[in-house]
Amino acid sequence: MLSTMHDGPLSIARILEHGSTTHGASEVVTWTGEQARRRSYAEVGRRAAQLAHGLRELGVTGDQRVATFMWNNAEHLEIYLAAPSMGAVLHTLNIRLFPEQISYIADHAEDHVVVVDESLLPLFQKILPSLSTVRHVIVNGDPSSLQAPEGVQVHDYEQLLRGRQETFDWPELDERSAAAMCYTSGTTGNPKGVVYSHRSIWLHSMQVCMSDGMALAQADRGLAVVPMFHAMSWGMPYAAMMAGASLIMPDRFLQPEPLVRMITSLHPTMAAAVPTIWQGVLGHLDQDPQDISSLREVVVGGSACPPSLMRTFQERYGIPVLHAWGMTETSPLGSVARPPGSATGEQQWPYRESQGRLSSAVQARLIDDDGNELPWDGKSVGELEVRGPWVASSYYNNDDPEKFRDGWLRTEDVGTLSADGFLRLTDRAKDVIKSGGEWISSVELENHLVAHPAVAEAMVVGVPDAKWDERPLAAVVLHEGAQADAAELREFLLGRVAKWQLPEHWTFIDEAPKTSVGKYDKKRLRKQHADGDLD
Ligand code: ADP
Repeated sequence: MLSTMHDGPLSIARILEHGSTTHGASEVVTWTGEQARRRSYAEVGRRAAQLAHGLRELGVTGDQRVATFMWNNAEHLEIYLAAPSMGAVLHTLNIRLFPEQISYIADHAEDHVVVVDESLLPLFQKILPSLSTVRHVIVNGDPSSLQAPEGVQVHDYEQLLRGRQETFDWPELDERSAAAMCYTSGTTGNPKGVVYSHRSIWLHSMQVCMSDGMALAQADRGLAVVPMFHAMSWGMPYAAMMAGASLIMPDRFLQPEPLVRMITSLHPTMAAAVPTIWQGVLGHLDQDPQDISSLREVVVGGSACPPSLMRTFQERYGIPVLHAWGMTETSPLGSVARPPGSATGEQQWPYRESQGRLSSAVQARLIDDDGNELPWDGKSVGELEVRGPWVASSYYNNDDPEKFRDGWLRTEDVGTLSADGFLRLTDRAKDVIKSGGEWISSVELENHLVAHPAVAEAMVVGVPDAKWDERPLAAVVLHEGAQADAAELREFLLGRVAKWQLPEHWTFIDEAPKTSVGKYDKKRLRKQHADGDLD
């Protein structure tokens, strides 16, 4: 028997219509360095329609790819809404990848149009000649400095919108059709394309808004620090439109000082970023204390959040840190670390420090080295595999049988699951240090090291060892003016971890190498060690 419910598709156009009418008074605020540009969701809705008319006039049809090479700002939000709603496919390019990787990705996705922020033109100029499928570049700002190769037309974003109709007859699309795509950075081989559907984005947005998700609600002002090119800014743009929450967009101002200024002047109620960003913000606040109490919560994910960072936020500023786990392939919310109602006070910490409880539609299993499924007992350690309506089950035009097993995504994350669905990751499979047949968790060592008062950042990787296979190398960044040597840090670790796990090699560096999305770049650290660049 079929249901009696209306069977209309879940679509981005519905999110756009709802957000720009019912929540037309909510706003997207873009930081410009000095002050903020404000735009209501009603205006965003009108401008998204104008943009769609403009794109149609450029000849954009069917599921052609409309790529972005942009920071987080109001115009980026307009493209997020307009491109999928008209049936095209939004493709967010990661501006921090190497130029060769960006051109590989844009070619592989067959990007037809790219919208670029004026501030990124110098970078984009170097890439543009190698983009073989791009026919139109739209500049958000002054396009005059861009030299386009033959066959590529350059447009001014505002001129493209000007004078056009403020409504658009959005087509009715199959909810399973592609809405947006995002490439993983990929540690081996070329980056892989993840294609989100209208349906997956809709369902994921509801998860972001759920109280036990990121709890994004109409009354919120969400500071989206996580880039819109990194796993869709963790779903915040679409979820905010759906809930009517206002958005605060930092544009290119991602350093601790402007971020703190945004918090103190624009009063976000929640904010999301990777741990290294929050570490920087806390360091800045130590030097220059400010009132950041507008934040009811900060969300952290993308890599393991050191417990000491969570404690500092809570104890010094009274702000809970919500730890979440996910991947580009999982839209990204996979699990969120809200303690169960039965846990109070100190009992909450083990839950909060975990990677969190599985989200409603995310199925999970743990698999051992022989392919057997392990029990959810909080002890058995295996590789996590996940599946669900907002989890990828293949890559775009790329067969990767290693990564998918019967519709399950192999995460390459290693850890345990408890009977009540809490995930605790030990490490990424490729970062676990294999020493004398035993495993050492690089994350555990890092978490302990960063709890030392002199340590600002700590990275641990395995380096080859003739006798043990691998031994840990710790690379440490000290706080400005702070003193500590390897002997002191070893002493500090002793008692916290087993003696055989203590790092063998130590190096003190000025800055930790980071990836294109602000995570510790362990590959680079290993290479620096192999090249003899470290002491
Ligand atoms: P990349 O592979 O380039 O880092 P993603 O952002 O998709 O791109 O990374 C997903 C990976 O990030 C996960 O597989 C996991 O290893 C790591 N990760 C994400 N969130 C957490 C977390 N809360 N704790 C530990 N690791 C995390």
